[in-house]
Amino acid sequence: MSAAVLLKDVFGFDAFRPGQQEIVEAVIAGENTLAIMPTGGGKSLCFQLPALARNGVTVVISPLIALMRDQVRGLREAGVEAGALTSGNTEEETDAVWAGLEAGTLRLLYMAPERLASGGTMQMLRRVGVGMIAVDEAHCVSQWGHDFRPDYLRIGELRRLLDVPLAAFTATADAETRAEIVQKLFDGVEPSTFLRGFDRPNIHLAFAVKDGPRAQILNFAAARKGQSGIVYTGTRAKTETLAKALNDAGHTACHYHGGMEAEDRRIVERRFQQEDGLIVCATVAFGMGIDKPDIRWVAHADLPKSIESYYQEIGRAGRDGAPAETLTLFGPDDIRYRRQQIDEGLAPPERRAADHGRLNALTGLAEALHCRRQNLLRYFGEDPQPCGNCDLCDKPADIFDGTTAVRMALSAALRTDEWFGSGHLIDILLGAKTEKIAQRGHDSLPTYGVGKEYDKRQWQAIFRQMMGHDLMRPDRERHGALRMTEHARPILRGEATIQLRRDSIKAAKGTGPKIRQMVSEEDAPLLSALKAKRRFFAEQLGGPAYIVFNDKTLIEMAEKRPMTIDQMAGISGVGAKKLESYGKAFLEVIAGAVEDVHPMRRKLAGRSEGAVFDRLLAAQADLSRGPDGADKPMSLNASTLAKVAQLRSADMSGIARVIGEKQAERFGPAFLEILRDG
Ligand code: ADP
Ligand code: ZN
Repeated sequence: MSAAVLLKDVFGFDAFRPGQQEIVEAVIAGENTLAIMPTGGGKSLCFQLPALARNGVTVVISPLIALMRDQVRGLREAGVEAGALTSGNTEEETDAVWAGLEAGTLRLLYMAPERLASGGTMQMLRRVGVGMIAVDEAHCVSQWGHDFRPDYLRIGELRRLLDVPLAAFTATADAETRAEIVQKLFDGVEPSTFLRGFDRPNIHLAFAVKDGPRAQILNFAAARKGQSGIVYTGTRAKTETLAKALNDAGHTACHYHGGMEAEDRRIVERRFQQEDGLIVCATVAFGMGIDKPDIRWVAHADLPKSIESYYQEIGRAGRDGAPAETLTLFGPDDIRYRRQQIDEGLAPPERRAADHGRLNALTGLAEALHCRRQNLLRYFGEDPQPCGNCDLCDKPADIFDGTTAVRMALSAALRTDEWFGSGHLIDILLGAKTEKIAQRGHDSLPTYGVGKEYDKRQWQAIFRQMMGHDLMRPDRERHGALRMTEHARPILRGEATIQLRRDSIKAAKGTGPKIRQMVSEEDAPLLSALKAKRRFFAEQLGGPAYIVFNDKTLIEMAEKRPMTIDQMAGISGVGAKKLESYGKAFLEVIAGAVEDVHPMRRKLAGRSEGAVFDRLLAAQADLSRGPDGADKPMSLNASTLAKVAQLRSADMSGIARVIGEKQAERFGPAFLEILRDG
């Protein structure tokens, strides 16, 4: 089957997402590939579909058992033979996987990297005819990332041993990690590399300066009550206090961090995966294990560590393509904290410089003056139009020429030999009479009192933006004193100007949360009913709801309201197998009672042959007693009619071969006419 047919029939999708098609083609062609796609971009499909188009079983190395099990389950729901060899298997499960491997019917074999440590596994894989290797979360080979998994280093060995193509996937885009992947998985030989489709247009981007951050988070969650979300925090302690605050506010929330017992963490992961509407307050440790497509929002209570981390974390929202929202809070303390983390880390100096650069890109995004998405995607090498789906497109920033203010601030720092933090520098600029100023004689500096045009709060915003644009950095050796960077020199010399934004903090306050709906008011009751039906099936399966249908598919059903099995087949996410399992039940929710459809006819749903079948059926009924209604009754069964509907070139003898000579005498001419114009 061609890729397009597999896409529709097995996965139920009408089109590839941006970037998927090129990758799928390269992988099917047997090239070594490295694909960098954002979280939620649809990586799994890029190896699952080729696995069906190629010979042999595809071995998928993936770091997390829970995630593998969900993918295997999802594939089985779509009618694909897939299995996993993990430590969590029951004996029967393992036996079934082995049987499938021996029989050559298994198409995808998921495996944790730890398995590769056993020589027996390597030999077994050599024997069963592996056609390719797919590596999910390939950045786990990188020693400097916090996801490092030593067993990933064995994958290179596996590739050499089996001598089959390898396709590696990751959401981590930075050049250092990419180079490490090429080195360790491909022995340094550049694979076909795909770095595209970075946009996730359904995710709304927004940043806000911290101003009572707990209330900001509570407001954001209140406007999205009942929807699944994640709140990322910078510290473990905060995950607990925020979860409590959310529970007190009537949400269902729990916390998650790397210091918890493995078992407790697993419970949270499972609950989040399966429940609708749970909020998890977590550190970045909550990440790779989550494969939930219907996360409707992600909030950062603290600034992430780099632009890549930011994008990966918000990218967990809205994988199903339905609208999702994000909010990232930040303040000067966050920037200081992140710089310090980098400076105190163990990475070699080049890596640290690169990390500062990645943080700069994020703070620049936080302080952006125009479309956030444009700013973000430019970092990843794309050059899009303003997006219309970010806070700055919703409401343009209030901008002013900050050149003079920045020069005053730099001058205050330089004239005090770069030994002070923003608090004291602001006091100098405002001409405040503090003890510290009197003691040091700073009231006699030429910059003393020159900044009265702005108040304290405005100066804080100016200093924060200067840090955001990396004009000043806190110096660890000077206990956080602000020092000018090279970026600031042109402004100081009068060779460059800079625009800053006036914060709109006051405007944002006091407005109650506006409730966000996923569909129009008119369709909301139907969507709830569809979700209830989905929950029913999910509970029967003992799995997460989206395994049945994801949110985007339900939204499309609620909006388009399919009334027939054909229209149902046209909904994105409804493949042949799912149509068979759930089509009728969901149609009934939408359209009330529906007629039973012959299974043969259901197989033709959504295709032109379906309509042909219906006309053949009608013609047959008309002619069952012959043209005059006087002959002996004669009829054909549904599977015979389906075969006729699928005849490629129609002539009398072809029809007779399918339905028999005698039957062809009665029905042939009418069928021929239908086939010729159908
Ligand atoms: P990730 O890149 O994070 O691994 P997934 O592979 O989990 O992303 O895909 C995210 C979601 O997108 C899944 O729910 C998947 O079913 C859906 N998806 C993938 N490809 C398509 C497509 N071509 N059309 C519609 N939905 C898709
Ligand atoms: Zn925008």
